[in-house]
Amino acid sequence: MPTDPTTVPRSVGNLRWPVEPAQGGWYTEAEHDAVRSALAESDDWRTGWKATPSTDAFEDVFAAYTGAAHAVAFASGGTALEMVLHHLRLEPGDEVISCAINFVGPHLAVIGQGGRLILAEPEPDTLNLDPVDVERVLTSRTRAILVTHWNGACADLRPFLDLAQRHPHPVHGAPVVIVDAARACGGRTPSGARVGAEGWATVFSFESKKLMTTLGQGGMVTTDDVKLGERLRRLRTYGGRDHWGTNQLMSKAQAAVGLVQLSRLDEMNDARIAAAHQRTRLLAGATELSLPPTVHGRGHLYYRHNLLVPEQWAGERRDALMETLAAEYGVGSIISDPPTYLGHRLIRDHTEGSRCPRAEHLAARLLCPCLHPRMGPGEQAAICNAIQQAAARITGTHTI
Ligand SMILES: *Cc1c(COP(=O)(O)O)cnc(C)c1O
Repeated sequence: MPTDPTTVPRSVGNLRWPVEPAQGGWYTEAEHDAVRSALAESDDWRTGWKATPSTDAFEDVFAAYTGAAHAVAFASGGTALEMVLHHLRLEPGDEVISCAINFVGPHLAVIGQGGRLILAEPEPDTLNLDPVDVERVLTSRTRAILVTHWNGACADLRPFLDLAQRHPHPVHGAPVVIVDAARACGGRTPSGARVGAEGWATVFSFESKKLMTTLGQGGMVTTDDVKLGERLRRLRTYGGRDHWGTNQLMSKAQAAVGLVQLSRLDEMNDARIAAAHQRTRLLAGATELSLPPTVHGRGHLYYRHNLLVPEQWAGERRDALMETLAAEYGVGSIISDPPTYLGHRLIRDHTEGSRCPRAEHLAARLLCPCLHPRMGPGEQAAICNAIQQAAARITGTHTI
């Protein structure tokens, strides 16, 4: 069993480079202006904070950017995903397959919407859901395959779409492919499509750490399915006249900022990609470490820069490396992420008896040191030196 993921690293107090740097904060005068205009407009008591014109505009531009027919904005990515799953009306025993290495949010959404969460293994180089393992766990009860573009690596969706066609559910037909693109906004999949254009529904998050942000919270769903689009609009505003619904609208100020952030997204992503490629180059000498693949174009957005330590360092020595980086060099790193069932009791109880040994093993070798597009070359060099020195110290300690 890997170490408790919540205890590593311990020295997170005064890090020069925090464990999880926030993209939020990279705002220009244009975002500030957008908020000021929203405030000024809302002083008019005839309209107040009514969000519709701003969210409509943000949705239209977002749909056009991704190439999807419809975009529906939400208060958060987590809620957006729940509402997509809600539309499926999952019944007891209906299965949703998802990668074990994941954020807990999507897994809780499946459980919350009455589905049975089925865990599958990641591919070793990108940590994206492995289609071969999906085929192993697919059954006649599978309703959906939930693919997370992990840490910005844009997964090829074609194998999943193909598997879904080949394994129809007896009542509902081909399982749907739902994409969690919270960490991949603006990316392109290997087929060349923009993230959001493929699959039945794609969910985005604009929370503070994500690749574009809307004042700390926010989400979006893109889809070509007109029925899903209409249903999502009703679900987020109390269900229209006939159905259940709730209030999960995005606010006017968030939408106004979202419009500006979307216009800057490619530039922000390119800066992040350049920083990640530079880090990979600077770490080429750290032969102990497996580096993330260098993907050109926007096929990998490097939401995080995943490193894997050697097999023999799995667990304890990886933890020591993270601890050294934090305590001696001020470099924060995170295990992003351990299999959800290891860190969350509800998910563990729900998936009782099923484990993903490959995911556990990869997570025990994983660390993601702090990366941010606004890091200067000096900072990058300092962080890479720290990683190399700390790794050499771990090697030294254990070869004597
Ligand atoms: C952030 C995130 C979410 C949830 O988005 P929120 O807007 O924070 O609710 C879902 N999945 C992944 C992979 C994420 O990183």
